Amino acid sequence: MSTIAAISTPLGVGGISVIRISGENALSAADKVFFPFGDKKVSDMQGYTCAYGEVRDKNGRTVDDAVLTVFKAPKSYTGEDVCEISCHGGIYVTKKILRLCIESGCEPAMAGEFTKRAFLNGKLSLTQAEAVTDMLSAEGDYALSSASLARKGRLYSEIKAVSDSLIKSLGELAAWVDYPDEDIPEVDESELLTSLKENRAALKKLLRDYDSGMLIKNGIDTVIAGKPNVGKSTLMNLLLGYERSIVTDIAGTTRDVIEESVRLGAVTLKISDTAGIHGTDDKVERLGVELAKSRLDECRLIIAVFDISSPIDDEDRELLKYISALDKRKVIVLNKTDKAQSVDKSAFSEYSDKIIAISAGSGEGRDEIRETIETMFTPEDYNADSTVFANERQKLCAEKALACIEEAIAALETGLTLDAVTVTIDRAAEHLAELTGERASEAVVNEVFAKFCVGK
Ligand code: GDP
Repeated sequence: MSTIAAISTPLGVGGISVIRISGENALSAADKVFFPFGDKKVSDMQGYTCAYGEVRDKNGRTVDDAVLTVFKAPKSYTGEDVCEISCHGGIYVTKKILRLCIESGCEPAMAGEFTKRAFLNGKLSLTQAEAVTDMLSAEGDYALSSASLARKGRLYSEIKAVSDSLIKSLGELAAWVDYPDEDIPEVDESELLTSLKENRAALKKLLRDYDSGMLIKNGIDTVIAGKPNVGKSTLMNLLLGYERSIVTDIAGTTRDVIEESVRLGAVTLKISDTAGIHGTDDKVERLGVELAKSRLDECRLIIAVFDISSPIDDEDRELLKYISALDKRKVIVLNKTDKAQSVDKSAFSEYSDKIIAISAGSGEGRDEIRETIETMFTPEDYNADSTVFANERQKLCAEKALACIEEAIAALETGLTLDAVTVTIDRAAEHLAELTGERASEAVVNEVFAKFCVGK
């Protein structure tokens, strides 16, 4: 396989940049570019050692001083010989060093090629490789911890346990089906059924955790609702921690739906700040109202805002009525506690048990909102220890495997022949092998690594 090189750090001005070289000729290519101070050459260096030296161009001119680290096959990320040059983090100098590596015989690495080689060399499973992308893009502690568990192989071993059990059943079935005349013990159907049901439960749990995981990874779709001037924009700015939308005193100014992501402790909210739910003749405003209603219908979490300093009116009641008919998580926020209070908290208690009085203007109550929302979505919905699928591809494989297992269970329960059961279990095992990459086609493997960035 060719020797490849790429810049493995983001391209930008920083303290250091890393150029990574991997392949059979990594050390000899580095010999032409990097000159350790002292009399050693890169190719004389041991694995897991580094040297301080100079990067020089073909004419012997110094380009930068840098540190080179050597990893010897198979003890490297890719499983091949690897050299990493840590140079000064300027865009020009980094690109120049990469060019020198390429002039010395390295090929530019394709997106994800280092990790793909790691997979092909058996350094990690496909699910672990996919977890690498996940980790790079993780936002929030929960997402990171689950990606890092997957990277350590937790997902792989959980899937492997199911697939091993299926293969064990297949072995027993095959022996019995294929050699009916031999003295092979009869397949214990009830034992087989129990084991299939256990496998079904294991896959179902993984699929359920995936849904919660997606929620945490991608953010909880949230709508801030309320009539004009109750303080929705102010609340949104408070949550965002900076000024985002223009806050004005004229009722109905927040006409457009503005979407922002905000991290509240472990969870991320995708918030849209919308117009209120109120009857209006204004066309532009009407549009906003319709949009607000449809957003309420689609979202996962509603933050309904009311002004505690003025009595509940028809618009407030309409909103309360509208949201109480929706089967969603709701937080009722009573804003402007710094002003004289004209409504009592108890007036809202029939609509939600999560009622928080705040002053969005002064920031009082911000922590309470964060804590309330955090506990609404964790830990009952999600456990940081759960392993989850990294993407739709893995989920789809698991779903197909689950469907086959369901089919096998139904076949056993309706007394179909063991032949039929064997075929469906075999298909389930195939889908799981595709999930872990043990039997993934080249197309699938390419697809997975195409999602990576160059240098990873
Ligand atoms: P929206 O129309 O619901 O988005 O409401 P805004 O966020 O634009 O706020 C309307 C007005 O109420 C602005 O003048 C804010 O400064 C004011 N306001 C918002 N929150 C508070 C608060 O907690 N206390 C007080 N006294 N005024 C607030």
